[in-house]
Amino acid sequence: MAAAPETKTVHSPALTYFSMLSLLSLCPPFVILLWYTMVHADGSVVQTWNYLKQHGLQGFIDIWPRPTAIAWKIIFVYGAFEAALQLLLPGKRVEGPISPTGNRPVYKANGMAAYFVTLVTYISLWWFEIFNPTVVYDHLGEIYSALIFGSLIFCVFLYIKGHVAPSSTDSGSSGNLIIDFYWGMELYPRIGKNFDIKVFTNCRFGMMSWAVLAVTYCIKQYELNGKVSDSMLVNTTLMLVYVTKFFWWEAGYWNTMDIAHDRAGFYICWGCLVWVPSVYTSPGMYLVNHPVNLGMQLALSILVAGILCIYINYDCDRQRQEFRRTNGKCKIWGKAPSKIEATYTTTSGETKTSLLLTSGWWGLARHFHYVPEILAAFFWTVPALFNHFLPYFYVVFLTILLFDRAKRDDDRCRSKYGKYWKLYCNKVPYKIIPGIY
Ligand code: NDP
Repeated sequence: MAAAPETKTVHSPALTYFSMLSLLSLCPPFVILLWYTMVHADGSVVQTWNYLKQHGLQGFIDIWPRPTAIAWKIIFVYGAFEAALQLLLPGKRVEGPISPTGNRPVYKANGMAAYFVTLVTYISLWWFEIFNPTVVYDHLGEIYSALIFGSLIFCVFLYIKGHVAPSSTDSGSSGNLIIDFYWGMELYPRIGKNFDIKVFTNCRFGMMSWAVLAVTYCIKQYELNGKVSDSMLVNTTLMLVYVTKFFWWEAGYWNTMDIAHDRAGFYICWGCLVWVPSVYTSPGMYLVNHPVNLGMQLALSILVAGILCIYINYDCDRQRQEFRRTNGKCKIWGKAPSKIEATYTTTSGETKTSLLLTSGWWGLARHFHYVPEILAAFFWTVPALFNHFLPYFYVVFLTILLFDRAKRDDDRCRSKYGKYWKLYCNKVPYKIIPGIY
């Protein structure tokens, strides 16, 4: 078996265990409290806090919805539909980056087609009165509850599969059950030759559910009030632009840390199956019963600012990938790129070379692309205005996640590229915010 997952050693062992155990135990109840507060407590953390103070643990158990048959049915039909689209829709053959043990995963790039078919099907089901998406909103708590337990069981399956039937040599145990369960064992787990589990959990279930739920919230507000507020329109449009960008660029996503470095375990898979549909969509969930009227000018300004941020974030990713795809033979902001040729050794002992771009967006800071990512999230949340903090939880969470990710990525690249990464850090000294951090 290959070496243990690299990600676990970034922080000190005590902090690593503390954060793993905290996230394993706190994330599930948090999802339920978030939903409860948004849907039943007016979005007010104080109201939920007072309820819990008054009713204690039993009160919390009482508000935790039991997974119902309808919740399982919705999840199963949606999951099966997405799995079928992933397997059956045509798409270009795309090769992922070379893995640490020298494998090159192959994918079918049909994400945009799956996204289009999913949204057209969902909206048509509503339009032709075959299925009303408000049913999803009305059973959201039960759905999250089912997802929490179902995804935990799924992660146990991943853990067992990693031990007994890994799909490739990019798999390994750290010798510690908690680390293996949390960070995962397999980098590219598959069912059969073609069904890639991380593409399903991260893209086709997680990211797709973001778009589906954004539309659901919009329809729910329409059915509640007979119209959709401009704040909801701005929020839904920006989220849909973001998810559309994601699927447009999905093959690029297969080159990122989530897929190429993070193994399939609780962190990535449970996160995409539960955290994305709940926390990532939460600003829209809040707006359903808080229809703020922004006015045309403010609504348009927020919309334009949000689209600009999503575009810049896309352009950062595009620039890096175009640079790598053309082996540095492309123009970056109209000029030949400045670059570092970095050699490294794979775990199987082969010497390889990667190019590091040091101009364009990647010359401003080493992870500048996180700035427009965070700002975009702010812009699709700010239509909620400032009556409550909770809609901003995603922005705060994302900021912490991306600052931590910048550190994890820097540490990983430093150990991969050694002196070449040091050279890059000398040339581009800031981690995320040019001139500041
Ligand atoms: P990427 O994987 O896209 O970029 C980091 C990797 O790129 C490094 O590991 C390294 O990999 C390579 N690299 C680093 N510097 C350079 C350089 N100068 N030139 C060329 N290659 C370089 O980062 P992320 O996965 O973090 O982000 C991808 C996208 O996903 C971003 O748009 C981000 O904002 C978004 N994102 C969104 C999240 C969310 O929850 N909403 C969470 C995380 C990311 P190698 O080993 O190949 O050299």
